[in-house]
Order: sequence, then C-alpha cells, then structure tokens
Amino acid sequence: MMPIRTSQKAAQFNESVIREMTRLFLTHSGPEGVNLAQGFPDFPAPDALKEAACAAIRADLNQYAITWGAKSLREAIADKTAHHYGVRPDPEREITVACGATEAMMAALLALTNPGDEVIVFEPFYENYGPDAVLSGATPRFVRLHAPDWRLDPAELAAVFNNKTRAIIVNTPHNPTGKVFAAEELGWIAALCQKWDVVAITDEIYEHLVYEGKHLRLSDLPGMAERTVTITGLSKTYSATGWRIGWLLAPPEATVAIRRVHDFLTVGAAAPLQEGAATALRFPDTYYAELATRYQEKRDSFLAVLRSVGLTATTPPGAYYVLADASVWLKTLKLPDDKALARWLVTERDIAVVPGSSFFRVPAEGANLIRFCYCKKPETLERAAKLLTALFPGVA
Ligand code: PLP
Repeated sequence: MMPIRTSQKAAQFNESVIREMTRLFLTHSGPEGVNLAQGFPDFPAPDALKEAACAAIRADLNQYAITWGAKSLREAIADKTAHHYGVRPDPEREITVACGATEAMMAALLALTNPGDEVIVFEPFYENYGPDAVLSGATPRFVRLHAPDWRLDPAELAAVFNNKTRAIIVNTPHNPTGKVFAAEELGWIAALCQKWDVVAITDEIYEHLVYEGKHLRLSDLPGMAERTVTITGLSKTYSATGWRIGWLLAPPEATVAIRRVHDFLTVGAAAPLQEGAATALRFPDTYYAELATRYQEKRDSFLAVLRSVGLTATTPPGAYYVLADASVWLKTLKLPDDKALARWLVTERDIAVVPGSSFFRVPAEGANLIRFCYCKKPETLERAAKLLTALFPGVA
C-alpha cells in the first residue's frame, strides 16, 4: 500500500527537540532523575487560580466561551495591563484570548502575513518561530544575538529589513538566553519598523521574570502602539503551562483578523480555566515581586552549581533558563557535540537538558551549548546539583 502523502509544509520541520528531550527523560530516567529540558515548573500553581477554575467547573461552565475570550478574562487582562504598564487595551476591540502564547503567535502570523513575506527572527531563537513562519507561508530572516551577553548589532539588524519584510518577532525576556532587550535596542527595532512599515509581534511570556533591569514593552515606544501585537499569557507567570491560556493585545483592525483566524484554529481556550485566569490576573503586586525574587534565588544558586562543574555562562537577567557553554564537558567526555551530550546525559545520567543547536539554523553554531531550565522546586535543583557534581567533580 502506498503511504499517505504528507504536506510540503510538514516536511520542512521536525518534532520539537525540547519536547523530545522530555519524552526521552520519561522513557529512560528513574525517580532520582531531573528534567531540566522543557520549561515548566514542577511546583504547584497558586491555590486561588485553581480554586477559581474548580468553582467555574462546579458551576457548570462547560460550554464554549466567546471565541475571542470570556468577558471576565478580557476585563481582567485590560485591568492588569493598565496596572502594570499604564495603558488599558479595549477588551471589546483589542484583546484576543488564545490557547497559549503558542497559538497566539500562530494566529498573529496567519492573520498578518502573506506567503512570500519575510518575518525577522532573532537567533538563537525559541524553536517554534521557524515552523510558525513556515506554516504561515512566510520566510524567516534571522538576525544574530551575539554571545556572551547576546548583544544586538544595529547594523546587522538594519541590513535584514527590506521591502518584503512584513513582521519582526521580538521575544523579551528571551528564551533561550534570558536576555532582556534594552531600551536602546527596542528603539532601533521601533525605528526600523516605522521606516519599513513592519508590524512587531512581541512574545512577552516571561514579562514578570526579570531580575536585572526592567521589562519594557515595544508597544509603549512612540509610534509603536499602532504597529505592535503583544503576546503574553498564563503559562510562566502563574506556573500553569498546561492550562493553555495566552492572549494578544493588538490594534482593532489587526484584532479583527486575528480573531477570525483564532476562531477557525481553535474556537477558543477552555472556558472554566479562563475564569481561573481572570482571578489570577487580579493578584496583588506582592505576587509578582515574590515570584521574581524566588526565581532570582533559583537562578543564582543553580548558576553557581553550573560554574562549579566547569560550564561558562553569563548571568541571564530574565526568564528561567541558562544557555551555558559546555565545551569543557564535551572535551572531558570525548563527545562530538551538544546533541550527543544531551542524549548521553538523559540516557546515562538521568538529566534532561536541551542541546544548544536546536536554537540555531546551523547546528554547528550551538554545538557547544546546552540549555538548562531552573524553574524547579529547591529539592529538584538540589538533586540536579548532586547529579552534576557527581558527574564532573574535578572539572572546575
Ligand atoms: N514563548 C516562549 C518564548 C516560550 O519559551 C514558551 C514556552 O516555553 C512559549 C512561548 C509557550 O507559551 P504558552 O505555554 O503560552 O503557549
């Protein structure tokens, strides 16, 4: 029998390496193993969030919510945005709730780009953006962030804009590097977007995880509110990655197109979970301050462990990852590259990490890099420290 023919689009990318690492971990690792690959917390989500969703389920909120988001959640998003950033988006015309920032990005690209358009992506990149561009028919164009502090070069940025450029994806705080884009860098991006009539699609899912500096929204720069789509969501700020709730803030005309695409992609996010989210978005300021403090402590202690076992990494100012140079390990273990190292760590030593090459177009660029996520309970991070120190006691 002839196999079913698959699409050209699907042939252009592979399974997510990050999620593959989690699967390998589940297959190979014992109870003492640690999964530092996929970016999800292993500690509970806030009680008030869970209780509000349970109450909604008990109240029989079982049917479709409004496709672009329950009114209660859109009102809460508007109020929270106004509280944190001083600008209140219109819940009726400028907010769309989606199934996570992941669907939000896909909906934005499908709604705002045409086949043949170019979409600028910073490299290293969150691995979804390449396939997102392919699925929307657009062509990704890459601009490098330069190690060790993942600096952006304004001349390189300017060189990639042209008449075909339709959108730029700006992820700040940034996965995998933890970079927080500076005001000056956002200014360069804003000026070029205006010069070339380009829309900025920002992924700000780590907006509350900033330890040095300040999270700045591109949409708050002069002239950018009308050409920016801001994406964020529940996953990281409220430790609920499995709830699949995110949202887009966009000018009204863009929102019409985004809502149309979103409706036919997924109809909408889970109705009772949207009620839980509406409650969480009204948490007091102390919630966000404590979240950032806890993560900063985790970052500092975990980074010290990584450095003590021979890895080098600049201190990431945001998000919850460390992208570390593992050249010393590769040499010590006589392994050829990051992929071999990641596979060896998960199959032989019960530690799941992400090979750095998955964040680059050309695998060789990330062949000495490994990404660790530290959004874990103290005991998980202690177990990780023990496993790592046992592995490489004399490297440092
Ligand atoms: N954007 C970035 C930069 C991420 O790192 C992640 C998850 O790791 C996501 C989006 C996924 O967000 P969501 O769970 O809301 O789909």
